[in-house]
Amino acid sequence: MIQARCRCGTFRFESTSAPILQLVCHCTQCREVSGQPFTAFSFFKVRDTQTQGEHRTVEFTADTGARTVREVCTSCGDMLIDRTDGFPKVVGVVHGRIAPALPFQPAHHVWTDSRVPETVLPEGVTLFPKGAA
Ligand SMILES: [Zn+2]
Ligand SMILES: [Zn+2]
Repeated sequence: MIQARCRCGTFRFESTSAPILQLVCHCTQCREVSGQPFTAFSFFKVRDTQTQGEHRTVEFTADTGARTVREVCTSCGDMLIDRTDGFPKVVGVVHGRIAPALPFQPAHHVWTDSRVPETVLPEGVTLFPKGAA
């Protein structure tokens, strides 16, 4: 069982299977919600996961036209979950909120066109300048 939770513990996530994809997101919306220059996500199969606890959603439309949602704890404001209509079978979890911590080996960096200037992108990863949807 893999678990993640917000800082205050109100909003929680569980998965019975390991992440199937890991990426770093440089989009503006994640930055606004998290206050971080970029966000590490692990993606899980939706059918193996559940969330519990009060949260609010921050919705926006990606350049691709896909509706995407960030789920944020109502109490502490931490972003925990990322869902995108373009990828309905997976759910993203803010990697740093997974405890105990899992290894993080991102294969992709997405929304690199929107990254904070001068952010150095690593070699050997696939870049998606405008997201992957
Ligand atoms: Zn919270
Ligand atoms: Zn993002």
